[in-house]
Amino acid sequence: MLNKILIVEDEPALRNLLKTCLVKEGYQVLEAKDGQEALDIFYEENISLVILDIMLPKLDGFEVLRTLRLESDVPVLILTARNTEYDELQGLRLGADDYITKPFSPKELVARVRAVLRRYSPKPGSEKIHIGKALLIDPACREVC
Ligand code: CA
Repeated sequence: MLNKILIVEDEPALRNLLKTCLVKEGYQVLEAKDGQEALDIFYEENISLVILDIMLPKLDGFEVLRTLRLESDVPVLILTARNTEYDELQGLRLGADDYITKPFSPKELVARVRAVLRRYSPKPGSEKIHIGKALLIDPACREVC
């Protein structure tokens, strides 16, 4: 299935740049220009990953992330111009999976998106199977533990 990525960014130029990079990589892209629109789209669509700016109109990125985390484990990559340790820690504490500070290179962005998505999509056949309480079948080691 095609990965659908939601870009939340209020600057049109930056939003377009992000979109161009990701579409070129074969991702399907949806765009939101503020925090409220981001949540509206998220609840309508089946989103695989969110790229979230922090400084946003209406709801800021932290608020959006906090709201998303109430009911979703969707991977979130924070995008921030405020290059301070506080922001990064705050984002990670609220449940972001990774962050990128602006300015960023398109290559770095795409690499991080890929890495986060890979972490979230288990390869077929690699999932551990739980049977009852005691048995665990791990296909990687071909063992029943
Ligand atoms: Ca912004």
